[in-house]
Amino acid sequence: MKRIAILGGTFDPVHIGHLRVALEAAEALDTPVRLMPAHVPPHRPAPRASPAQRVAMLRAALTGQDRLQLDTRELDRAEPSYTVDTLRQMRVEFGAVQPLILLLGADAFAGLPTWHHWRALFDLAHIVVLTRPGHSGALPAELAGEIAVRRARVAADLHASPGGKVFDLPVTPLEISASAVRALLAAGRDPRWLIPEALLADPALLAAYRHAGG
Ligand code: ATP
Repeated sequence: MKRIAILGGTFDPVHIGHLRVALEAAEALDTPVRLMPAHVPPHRPAPRASPAQRVAMLRAALTGQDRLQLDTRELDRAEPSYTVDTLRQMRVEFGAVQPLILLLGADAFAGLPTWHHWRALFDLAHIVVLTRPGHSGALPAELAGEIAVRRARVAADLHASPGGKVFDLPVTPLEISASAVRALLAAGRDPRWLIPEALLADPALLAAYRHAGG
């Protein structure tokens, strides 16, 4: 059965790291990847760009290809949603047997035990962990314990069940982060080749970052 894979994030702004690792995951898993911009809850630092600006940047970045798609379901809701709730909604929409795959960078995966109802995520989806430079892969003990019996050996194992497996996917290590791109833009430096060309083509897309403060 066709898989559905998602890469959630703030995308403030989308950068080449997001796009390249998502594309490599789409190829390795033989499925389109949905980039899913998140509503940031009020107790977390606000993104520099508004939801509409983050969507506009993603749309511009994704133009001209179809392996990476935009899914705005979290921004379409009035309130920030936990990932577990988004996956529950997708389960209802796509049915109980549809394989769902949550893609996470290694840094995000290591922080999983701080997420709302994190153990329930495994009941809802597979998790594919993408290598990210600067992150050793060391895991908190409770997470290591939870996934010990969930390891998939090959990507094809993810086809056989709707969720519950964890698979490490090596992708090209790209030491690019949105925070570094924001700092560079705030300093008036040129972000070329760290962010998609389409973001440079329209100055309005990067307007949110062109002021001091990073
Ligand atoms: P910030 O620097 O603002 O924290 P970020 O660059 O980590 O942002 P996010 O939008 O928070 O970007 O990331 C969304 C998802 O993409 C996370 O799972 C993150 O681990 C992953 N990701 C982002 N950049 C990379 C990268 N260069 N390599 C691998 N995974 C990445």
